[in-house]
Parts: sequence; structure tokens; C-alpha cells
Amino acid sequence: MLETATGQKYADLPEETKRSYRIIADHCRSGVMIASEGVVPSNKEQGYVLRRLLRRSIVAAHQLDLPAEVIAQLVAPVCDFYGETYPDVAAKKAEIEQIFTTEARKFSATLNKGLKMLAKLTEISGEQAFFLYESFGFPLELTQEIAAKRGIQVDEAAFQAAREAHRQASKLKTDQKFRGGLADHEAQTVKFHTATHLLLAALRAKFGTDVYQKGSNITGERARFDFTFGRALTEAEIAELQQQVNAWIEADLPVSCQTYDKQAALQLVGGSVFADRYPDRVTVYQVGDVSQEICVGPHVSHTGEIGRIKITKQQSAGSGVRRLYVYFA
Ligand SMILES: [Zn+2]
Repeated sequence: MLETATGQKYADLPEETKRSYRIIADHCRSGVMIASEGVVPSNKEQGYVLRRLLRRSIVAAHQLDLPAEVIAQLVAPVCDFYGETYPDVAAKKAEIEQIFTTEARKFSATLNKGLKMLAKLTEISGEQAFFLYESFGFPLELTQEIAAKRGIQVDEAAFQAAREAHRQASKLKTDQKFRGGLADHEAQTVKFHTATHLLLAALRAKFGTDVYQKGSNITGERARFDFTFGRALTEAEIAELQQQVNAWIEADLPVSCQTYDKQAALQLVGGSVFADRYPDRVTVYQVGDVSQEICVGPHVSHTGEIGRIKITKQQSAGSGVRRLYVYFA
């Protein structure tokens, strides 16, 4: 099925050359059968089996000075040969050719670099074998085979250990990134939440203690704060509130907490629209001497941690309720 590149008779070829031809023929035939079942080259399971077959063929072709794409040229004869017995194989000829061509292009781009690196090595550690695998797409068996020709052993256990170490390291990185992202989000949320205590205190300082919090909604990016108030705030009033909150942030006021009986706590904080929902014992959070609120936290320990904020817009949030949006400045 495979004509020799030089036109010599197969039987007359050196053993080493025959072997390369046999590898290409056998591996491509197996590859076609696997690919006809819908498998594509990958680094997992069946896909990796296919990749190993094709890459070994490509290396064998390289040793015969044949281009990597020769593996794709073999698809048609294989499909024609097996097509009568396996109609699936015949039907997928074009598709399989495409798969082989893609893999050939992918691998030939790094094949020479990998082979050059291999040629320089006088011994091959598990780390180096893994590097060839990771960076040049050399399956371990391929590295072992090429190394064996030069009398070099590649320790499979060391390769697996290097692969596992790499897997753990990248998993750790992913975990850290994930946790970092969450931690960051949580830190922002805590800052915004503490800022809402200051905002309520500023509203009460300005408009009196019959201003109550009606609700809040916090994302990592902003706080939305609802409070009882009968009219829209003026621009000047909003600017004043913002200035007051930022002044308290700059003062770096300490945040502390203490547990009280519910009634005592309600008296301390000047009442709450959520009084009915509280348990018998509640925690009152105190920010410097400007704010006392029944809350469950968490909060920053000093207001300076919040950083400057800005109040960007207001809305009505129902009858007698206003809504403010707070962002970091
Ligand atoms: Zn709170």
C-alpha cells in the first residue's frame, strides 16, 4: 500500500527503513479505524491513543524524509481497502483525511524542535520526557523509542511523577485563582456592607432618627441602599452625605461589637424596621461613636479599610422609600 519514496523494492531496503514504513502503514491503518468511530486526536483516553499512533507515524515519516502530511495521503487507500467491509470507513474518508492533516500540521510544527532537543540529551530524565510531552507533544512512548535507538533509557515512573507534579501545580494555581477571586469578592462586599452602616448614620445625622434602613443589596462592585424617606434628595444633599461618609472613612474609626437582649439593643440603635425578625439576643455593631446597628457582620475592623466611596445615583424604591447606589471612588 505504501510505495517507497526512492522507488527501491521494499525487500531490498535496510531493516531500519522497512521498520519505519511498517510503522507508518500499521499505525495509519489503525488510526483510520479509530477515527472512523468518531475519535479525534486529544490528550485523553481514545483520543490520546489516536494521537500516539499518528505522531509515531509522522516521526517515522520524518526519518524517511517524508513530509508529515503523508499520513493523510494514506487515508484514501486504507478507506478504499476496508470500505466494502466497513461502510462507515468509506463514508468518512474526507473527514478522516482532514483529521490526519490537522494533526500532521500541528505536530510537524514542533517535531523538529523536539527532535533537536532530544538529540542533544545524553540522558533523559522524567522531567525532560515530560517537557517533550508538554511542549512538543511527544508521547512518552515516542521519546522512549527515539531514545532507545541511542541506547538511552527513559524512566516511565519518573515521567509519570513529573506529570503528576505538574498536574498538582496547575491545580494549585487554579485553586488559588479561584479562592483569590472569591476572597477578593468577599473583601469588597465586607467594605461595601460596612459603608452602608456609615451611610445610614450620615442620613440619620442629617435628617433625624426617623430614617430607617429598608434593605440593601451588595455585589462586589456596588452597594444598593434603601431607606425610609419621603422625597428625592437634592444633589447638594447627596454630595453632603458622600462627604460625611468619606470623612468617617478617613477618620479610620474602629468597628466593635457586643451582644445584647433584643429590647436593649433596639433602644440602643433607635429602633429598626426589622425588629420582628430579630432573635432574643442580638449583636450590635458600633462604628466609632457615629453608628450603632443590629447586624450579623462581617465588617472591616477600621473604616479606613473601606477606601473612598461615591454615591452615584438615587431612585424611588416604592412609596416613602428611596434608593442610593454606592461605588468605590
Ligand atoms: Zn453590618
